[in-house]
Amino acid sequence: MLVDSHCHINFPELTGDLEGVMSRMQAAGVTHALCVSVSLGTLPEVLAIAERFPNIYASVGVHPNQHGEAEPTADRLAELAAHPRVIAIGETGLDYYRETGDLHWQRERFRIHIRAARRCSKPLIIHSRQAPEDTLAILKSEGANEVGGVMHCFTESLSVAQRAMAMNFYISFSGIVTFSNARELQEVARNVPLERLLIETDSPYLAPTPYRGKTNEPAYVRRVAEQISEIKEIGFVEVAEATSANFFSLFKVTHE
Ligand SMILES: [Zn+2]
Ligand SMILES: [Zn+2]
Repeated sequence: MLVDSHCHINFPELTGDLEGVMSRMQAAGVTHALCVSVSLGTLPEVLAIAERFPNIYASVGVHPNQHGEAEPTADRLAELAAHPRVIAIGETGLDYYRETGDLHWQRERFRIHIRAARRCSKPLIIHSRQAPEDTLAILKSEGANEVGGVMHCFTESLSVAQRAMAMNFYISFSGIVTFSNARELQEVARNVPLERLLIETDSPYLAPTPYRGKTNEPAYVRRVAEQISEIKEIGFVEVAEATSANFFSLFKVTHE
């Protein structure tokens, strides 16, 4: 059993072939996936997928690179997260790579999400790019350790991973960990304890080797698990079982 802890199967690259996505998941042994929201405008699409497929869960959040929507309030996010298929708040966080200038608004949006997560007692899905110190500082000052969550598509140092883990966060590795130029990240993955580790595709982006450059999809999370098993020199089944158990424990999901 494998779980893709972060995908966007509502995006145009994948949503036209959901039946195909589901059957390839099943063939690859990927039993569940979390379809992560990036805006409130597209939330109904995400919820519709999670309502249609019992093995797909949903989250509620506005991505740090999302523009053109009214800023959500913590009340509004918590209210939307009451939907029975919603298991997390996010993705939220800081992205200093794709945004420049005064990013006060992005930090405020991040804080609002943490407050919403605490209000509804759901874990956070954190997107952090070129902003590790500010991300950790805001998680700390808003008391995010109370709900915990996941540092998704992790590409930072072991020190950042350790400080996030100390605040009840899991570390999720994507297809990036399979890239031949990702030696440093592979070293981080080796040192993140298996009981704190999640795997994801972030599909349709970041297809793992040997599918690099193609459209990514949840079935390919198997390649991430294989890579983790090689890096840590442990069995594939052990990685699959641990990362799946971590997913269900973090998101408090009961499943058949
Ligand atoms: Zn992200
Ligand atoms: Zn994402």
